[in-house]
Amino acid sequence: MAHLSGTDRSQLLLLPEAVDDYVGPDNPVRFIEAFVDGIELGAAGFVRVQPKATGRPGYDPADLLKLYIYGYLNRIRSSRRLEAETHRNVEVIWLLRHLKPDFKTIADFRRDNRAAFKTVFREFVVLCRQLDLFGRELVAVDGTRIKAVNNKTRNFTRPSLAKAIQDADERLAGYMKRLDEGDADEDRTPGGGSGNGDGKLAEKIAAIQGKRDRHKEMLAELDRTGADQISLTDPDARAMARMTKVGVGYNIQLAVDVKHKLIAEQAVSNQVLDLGLLAQTAIAAMEALGVERIEAVADRGYFKIEDIEACEAAGVTAYVPKPIRGPAVREGFFGKDVFRYEPARDVFVCPAGAALSPRYRGKSRDNVKVDYANRDACKACTLRSRCTRSFRRVSRLENEAVLDRMATRLAARPEMLDHRRNSVEHPFGTIKQWMGQGAFLMRRLENVRGEFSLTALAYNIRRAITLVGVPGLIAAVRT
Ligand code: SF4
Repeated sequence: MAHLSGTDRSQLLLLPEAVDDYVGPDNPVRFIEAFVDGIELGAAGFVRVQPKATGRPGYDPADLLKLYIYGYLNRIRSSRRLEAETHRNVEVIWLLRHLKPDFKTIADFRRDNRAAFKTVFREFVVLCRQLDLFGRELVAVDGTRIKAVNNKTRNFTRPSLAKAIQDADERLAGYMKRLDEGDADEDRTPGGGSGNGDGKLAEKIAAIQGKRDRHKEMLAELDRTGADQISLTDPDARAMARMTKVGVGYNIQLAVDVKHKLIAEQAVSNQVLDLGLLAQTAIAAMEALGVERIEAVADRGYFKIEDIEACEAAGVTAYVPKPIRGPAVREGFFGKDVFRYEPARDVFVCPAGAALSPRYRGKSRDNVKVDYANRDACKACTLRSRCTRSFRRVSRLENEAVLDRMATRLAARPEMLDHRRNSVEHPFGTIKQWMGQGAFLMRRLENVRGEFSLTALAYNIRRAITLVGVPGLIAAVRT
């Protein structure tokens, strides 16, 4: 039996007469059209919303925004590929009514309106609120790293520069020695030696010297600016220390509502660690969801007393497990968690049952730190080899009650940590695997923020379509 052969290319067909007939009622482009048409683009911060009075007519920002939302929903992010789609993709032809902007116009639009994309993202959050898609009770906060347009070899830290300079010095010393030896040979055998070889050596020495000078200049720049690293291709990108796969990139923060795993808030920074980013992300999520109180769960990387306090003051009830760290733990001694604090007596009770009282006051960053100890008990203690070398001190910040309250909450609801894992992994996995966004296309922090707002918007749209369907979303836009 023959294979399916398709239709003869020269045969006349009775194709639908209108492009509209090619686009079904539940095609996402119909929602994109309705959603963008409902946004006040001028108020959202888009440029060139009003057409020019004179000159050649330009493209309506609404059309270019529709093109970008379509592109991010369909893993097409490059301006050249988007231009190609305007010529061959019937959905894009429908969406843009046969308009065919060139790639430069498309790229310029994304760059010029980078800040406005966040407003569009928030508009969609408001739409999801109308549809009751957010639980608005608990958000999971977490971060991931996405690669920047900056190769690892074009990022320099103080240690890497110091090492490069040291290596250059060693190589230079070796080459100089060889030059000296060549000179000595020539002196011994007049008319001998290879002038050509010395020339090549001199070239190598000049190249190493030039590179060394550039590294010196970069080190001086780090000293002058107080920065800790320099990226040459994208100056805002940073080496994500422990993220070896990402190398140089940006830190993406998400607050995900646990009800349907929709993103309530997103932010991009070039801070390497998550530490210190909890309050700002959770408070922004609370505002975006339009509530006055919310719970937020995050992993140990966010454990910072100032952040937990800021959350509590703003109405965010934080759940962050305490990291097991500190010099005692590193040396294999008892961790602080086995010392029980008794607020009524203001003492720590140690594993041997002794009471450690406040002994020393000091500073820890902006906080007052009190050290608790009981020298006499330690002297005679049978557990001393597992606890300390001489006598044990246990520190407590004056405002540490906020951490005690959080520990009590977490002990009462350990399932909170499962909520975190189950909620944030969905958007991260979808964005990186399904949407194929393992790397940014643009350089500089502000551009990358705009780019990620489109990514997060596309994720939320896709999720909302799964939950309520295209007709449901269109109906919500029109109410
Ligand atoms: S060494 Fe001191 S602090 Fe440690 S268990 Fe013994 S008495 Fe307690």
